[in-house]
Amino acid sequence: MARAIHWQSSRTLAEFRLIPGFTSLEAAPENVSLRTRLVAERDESRAIHLNAPLLSAAMLAVSGSRMGIELARQGGVAVIPCSQGVEAQAAVIREIKDYKAGFVAPRMIAPQMTIGEVESLREQTGYSTFPVAGEDRGFLGLLTRCDYDPVVHRDLPVSERMIPRDSLETLTDVVDLKEANARLVEGHQSVLPVLDGEERLLYLVFRKDVQDHLHNPLQVVDEKKRLLSIGAINTRDYRDRVPALMEAEADALVVDASDGFSCHHRDALEWLRTTYPEVPVVGGNVITGEGFEFLVDAGACAVKVGMGSGSICITQEQKGTGRGLATAVLKVCEARDRILERTGEYIPVIADGGIVNARDVVIALALGADAAMLGRYFARMDESPTEKLQINNRVMKPYWGEGSARSRRWSPERYRHAAFAEGVEGFVEYAGKLADNVGMMLDKIKAALSACGCVTIADLHEKAELEVVSGLSIREGEVHDVYLPNETENPARRWMT
Ligand code: IMP
Repeated sequence: MARAIHWQSSRTLAEFRLIPGFTSLEAAPENVSLRTRLVAERDESRAIHLNAPLLSAAMLAVSGSRMGIELARQGGVAVIPCSQGVEAQAAVIREIKDYKAGFVAPRMIAPQMTIGEVESLREQTGYSTFPVAGEDRGFLGLLTRCDYDPVVHRDLPVSERMIPRDSLETLTDVVDLKEANARLVEGHQSVLPVLDGEERLLYLVFRKDVQDHLHNPLQVVDEKKRLLSIGAINTRDYRDRVPALMEAEADALVVDASDGFSCHHRDALEWLRTTYPEVPVVGGNVITGEGFEFLVDAGACAVKVGMGSGSICITQEQKGTGRGLATAVLKVCEARDRILERTGEYIPVIADGGIVNARDVVIALALGADAAMLGRYFARMDESPTEKLQINNRVMKPYWGEGSARSRRWSPERYRHAAFAEGVEGFVEYAGKLADNVGMMLDKIKAALSACGCVTIADLHEKAELEVVSGLSIREGEVHDVYLPNETENPARRWMT
């Protein structure tokens, strides 16, 4: 093979803008559907779709059970990382699959805890209602923010301020949300504890979110109405890991590798194809048409695209390998279209790494992607598994790369092929609840599709007209030459959603 030099620059998503088309009444934002196919499946009844084209990255700082539950409720899906023990990962998948809408698995506190300790827990978690339980989850009462004064009662034990079990209405073994709702409507409490026959606490049902759970049109579920859950695997221990994830009833798998164009990746995909032929598998990451075709031939039902573009990624700095995400998506989607023409099979493409906000998702979709995977974006939210902390008067959450020194300490075996880190460890600015952020992001994506006269992502693939913008026109597209007295400390916040 001869040396090849591509003189055209590699492009990032931020370098493109969409040219709007005619917006008809039918293409109003409220008529736009962001439903998207996640994996190719010849048998339509087994196809997996998302209602929002968003996946949270397979990273320990991003995707745990809370993220898995909330993102699937909002129409996307979390990919649970494999940079943890097999049992721990399977337990997260199981927790997502066992989730019952509206029934919250509570964070319990002990009766001897002090009110001061509960206050710190409240600040850390954002919860304002704690069930009090003794040994073996035996239910003793509830403590809400209205039951104490954080200063006056600071040193008292919880047992002296809680509402005791006898004063509370409870439910036994209820699994039907409508029934729980009926009791909340008739009763006087804002939260109902659900106990088993032996007075052990199972769940809490909150009045404030029960309606939301009863009508949740975006949530993505399997044929048994359980939330969708996806597990990542690596190319080292998949023979041990996959059986446990299947046992936990993962709906699909992602073979997680920074460079999927490799013999190890092919071996893993081929083993999966023969051992678990019914399980949809996403391959990746690749950045060329050749890499894409290689993964599809080996059995990938969807392909993740991107290398060197992630916010915590130092692959380009360390090794000089990578490609701008826009160019990578474009090249891979050209190969996807060739396969479609040749075989009639449509392989979904997931853009991954460096996607900052709604605008980037829109451009990735317009270039041909079917969905976007985001790490930094989701790491900032309440539902990521890390705790909030204060740095220089700003609220932050930790965020680190799966190839950072921190991750490498967990499994030297997984990273034995490289003696150096390919990611960094840092912090991202806290952004609040996932539902609020994703809701706003989906509104912006719908507005963009509407402006292009499109009502589906497939429409956008067909009609999108994109233009590369110059540095000066990017500047022109931002607020300029205006004094903003109310601008927040960090002007970047405005475009981070
Ligand atoms: P972000 O959304 O820009 O934060 O990028 C997240 C993506 O970066 C992930 O989905 C991975 O593809 C990639 N990634 C995760 N950890 C590392 C790392 O340590 N080095 C390089 N890339 C990484």
